[in-house]
This record gives sequence, structure tokens and C-alpha cells, in this order.
Amino acid sequence: MLDVGRHPNINLMAYSEVQKVEGSIGAFKVTVRKKARYVEEDKCTGCGACEEKCPTVVPDAFNEELGTRKAIYAYFAQGIPSTRTIDPDHCRQLNGKKCGICKKTCQADAINFDQKDQIVELDVAAIIVAAGYDVFDPSRIPEYRYREIANVVTAIEFERLLSASGPTDGHVYRPSDIAARAKIEQLEKTLNKTTKALKRYEEKFGEASEDFYKKFQNGQFSDDEERKKWASRYEEYLGISGPLQELKKQAEGFSSAKRLAFIQCVGSRDFRFYPFCSGYCCMHSIKEAIIAHEHEPETTSAIFGMDIRAVGKGFEEYKIRGGNQSGITYVRGRVAEIMEGANHNPIVIYEDTRERKVKSQEFDMVILATACAPTKGLPDLAKVLGIELDDYGFVKTNPVSPVDTTVPGIYVCGCAESPMDVPESVAQASSAAERAAEVISLQSLNKESAVA
Ligand SMILES: Cc1cc2nc3c(=O)[nH]c(=O)nc-3n(C[C@H](O)[C@H](O)[C@H](O)COP(=O)(O)OP(=O)(O)OC[C@H]3O[C@@H](n4cnc5c(N)ncnc54)[C@H](O)[C@@H]3O)c2cc1C
Ligand code: SF4
Ligand code: SF4
Repeated sequence: MLDVGRHPNINLMAYSEVQKVEGSIGAFKVTVRKKARYVEEDKCTGCGACEEKCPTVVPDAFNEELGTRKAIYAYFAQGIPSTRTIDPDHCRQLNGKKCGICKKTCQADAINFDQKDQIVELDVAAIIVAAGYDVFDPSRIPEYRYREIANVVTAIEFERLLSASGPTDGHVYRPSDIAARAKIEQLEKTLNKTTKALKRYEEKFGEASEDFYKKFQNGQFSDDEERKKWASRYEEYLGISGPLQELKKQAEGFSSAKRLAFIQCVGSRDFRFYPFCSGYCCMHSIKEAIIAHEHEPETTSAIFGMDIRAVGKGFEEYKIRGGNQSGITYVRGRVAEIMEGANHNPIVIYEDTRERKVKSQEFDMVILATACAPTKGLPDLAKVLGIELDDYGFVKTNPVSPVDTTVPGIYVCGCAESPMDVPESVAQASSAAERAAEVISLQSLNKESAVA
């Protein structure tokens, strides 16, 4: 990616949207909206001082909302360019409130609240669609209770939990525990404020809040407005400190998730949703189980699937190694339902097709290997480009030339075309680049022969 950012022939237009495409092969005119970042890219050094000081905290989409980010942020650490962006939906200043802390903090004078979207016109010979995929929404399968049971997560969410740069620094903490810890933090903050307020009353009236409150309950000071406020502050204190102590006690027992269940084909190979195999999910479940075991050697994983599709050089060996060395058990069976047990533990109800028995097993966390779905913006992009989509919503291609779309000069690669893993996506990207280069080479040849 760094190479792409530095390449003299590549004009990287991140945070931009293709709005209009006119013309035809060899001579497309593309209109792009370069969205305002409110940060001057050429001035921003990427130091992150603004981000540190920004008081606005919002859920972090890159970390699947398992963590938070600031209103001024970098979408992810390795992003190119490394400049920050202000989120116009959450920034206080851009929403008419007083703030501007980032502007005061920025030594490079890069913050510009007056920046506007820019419209850029490009003349291009060929176009490659590489818009990727979206994760299938597993809440469409109600029996898996995704979003109802906190510790049922998608594989992409689990990937963020496993990542050293993720919201838990690579510790596989359970979402129910993460939520409880966040609640503790929030209650502690409120309690802190309340305690400070109580201290002021105690100093003023020379009495401990507890003693005062007993008297207040016995009917003393009922006409004193200030003491009424003191009493209500003390009630607030009692209302917070009890649940806080309870939560803290629970938190002492929190540990990382060590009994994992992976459920395959969630939305794939399912005629209610996508009949196709998404191709990469068997391998990413094995990968995630192996990494989780590397992080915590006590971790065991059960991978539930109709079959494990380890298609590729060395993949079968990787699968076997996972079983032999990383605590993975492969269970041939379709999971019927997930229930919630004690301590927010998910219980998997499944048919073991080898033993022909319905069984149940309790886990610390369940990971859903969701289908590869067409990316949500693809229908709009297809309309702008004038290309057709196939029955599933991926870009329609010529079966004998699988990077050619229905419009000459517009090519496609990766999961925008169909589900595939990274090596396949890269190979297809090279192929699409080659097709685009052909258009340019033919143009050069034609020009040369015209001159001759
Ligand atoms: C949990 C999980 C783990 C995986 N692990 C592995 C693994 O270990 N190894 C492996 O080989 N594969 C893995 N895969 C598969 C891998 O993610 C895909 O093969 C790969 O990301 C496909 O690359 P792509 O470039 O086609 O799409 P993407 O990676 O989805 O990239 C597409 C990009 O286009 C952008 N985009 C979308 N729409 C637009 C638009 N309209 N305008 C501009 N930009 C747009 C998106 O924001 C995105 O950045 C995993 C998949 C999942 C779900
Ligand atoms: S103006 Fe304030 S809220 Fe907005 S990005 Fe800067 S520091 Fe954050
Ligand atoms: S790769 Fe595995 S989990 Fe994914 S759809 Fe195919 S069989 Fe199911």
C-alpha cells in the first residue's frame, strides 16, 4: 500500500466518490467528488496530536464498533494518506458548537473548517471496479441471535479482537465483558462527580452525607431547598455505588474467551440467502482459531460445518495442523440454534451428523463465518458506470473473460466480481490491470501508426 501512495503514476484519491462517468472505451470522462476532510492533506504530518485532544468520542466503524475513536481520526493506522479527517456528523465545531481544540493543537496549521468538497474531472482510457464485498448481516438468521446474545460475533468482529492494533490490543475479551468494563468506567466518572458535589455540601454544612441523609429521611430540613438538593445527590450516589460495586465484583472474574465455536456457512450455501460457497470462510475460521490458540494456549475451538472447504495449495495441511496443534475440533453438523446460558455464555444446539444426534455445547464465544455479500454501494456505482450486475448483485462478467464487465473498457476484480480470497483477488487485479493496459497500448499504437 505504501508503494501505491508513493508511485509517481498513481494518483490516489481516498475519501472520494465517483459521481458521473461519460464516454466510452479509451475516452471516459469521470467526475469525482473529493470530500472535504477539513484537514489540509499537504500540511498534516499525521502526528495525531489533534486526535489525542479531541473531546468527542464516537463508535469506531473500523473496529466494528467494539472500540471508540475521536471526531478527528484516521480510519485505520496504516491508511494512505496518513492524514486525519474530521467526521462532519460528530464534530462539535462543524455542528455549530464551540470547540476548535484540534485547530489550536495542530502545530502544522492543517485544520481548515472552511474546506469544501471538490469536484475533479478525470480523462481516463479504462476503469477497474475493485469495490470489494460486505459481510452478510447474520441478524437475518434469527435463530443465531446475533445482536441479542453479546458473545455471538461475526468473524470480522473477531478478527478485530484478535488484532494487536484492535480495540483490545489482541486480547480476546468477550463483548459482554467489554460492555461491562465500559459501564464501570462510565459509572465511576459519574460517581466521581457526585462524590465531589457531596463533599462541597459536607464542607458547607459540616456533616457527613450519610448522617445528614438519615436526619433528612426522618423529616428534618424538609423546607430547606439546598438540603433537598443534597439529599437527591446522595440518593444518586447510592443508586450508582451499589450497581458499581456489583459490576466490579463481576469484573474480577472476567478473563479472555477460551472456549470458541465457529459456525460456518452463515448466509452461504443457504437457499434462503446465498446458494454459493463464499470460498474463504473455512480458511479464515481455521486461521482465527489458530491465532487465538497462539495468543492463549489453553484456547480450544470447535468449527461447525457441513464440510470444511480447504481448497488451495497447502490449505488441507493447514487445516490438519490446526486440529493437531491448535486445539481445533471439526464438527460435521449444521447448527440449528444458539441460546444464551449463564454468564452470557452462548449455547450451540446442533446436529452431529456423524453420530446422528442432536447435541448442545456451551462456549465463551461464538464466531459466525458470514457470507461474502455484494457491497451495499454497488448498485449505485453500477448505475453510474452503466454496467450490469448478476443475479446475486455482484458485477456481471463475461464467463470466458472474467474481468470484463458488460461495458467495454470497464473491468472488475476481487470480491466485486465474486467471493474470493486475497491471493485470488490480487491475481485478478493484475489481470484487470493488464486488460486496462491493453486499451492504453492500443491507443498509443494507433497514434503512432497515424503519425507514420
Ligand atoms: C473475517 C474475514 C477474514 C478473512 N481473512 C482472510 C485471510 O486471512 N486471507 C485471505 O486471503 N482472505 C481473507 N479474507 C477474504 C478477504 O477479505 C478478501 O478476499 C479481500 O478483502 C478481497 O479484496 P477486494 O479488494 O476485492 O475487496 P475489499 O478488501 O473489500 O476492498 C474493497 C475496497 O473498496 C472500497 N469501496 C467499496 N465501495 C466503494 C466505492 N463505491 N467507491 C470507492 N471505494 C469503494 C472499500 O471501502 C474497500 O476498501 C477474509 C475475509 C473475512 C470476512
Ligand atoms: S473541533 Fe473539537 S470536536 Fe471537532 S474535531 Fe476538532 S477537537 Fe474534535
Ligand atoms: S468456504 Fe466454507 S464456510 Fe464459507 S461458504 Fe464455503 S463451505 Fe461455507
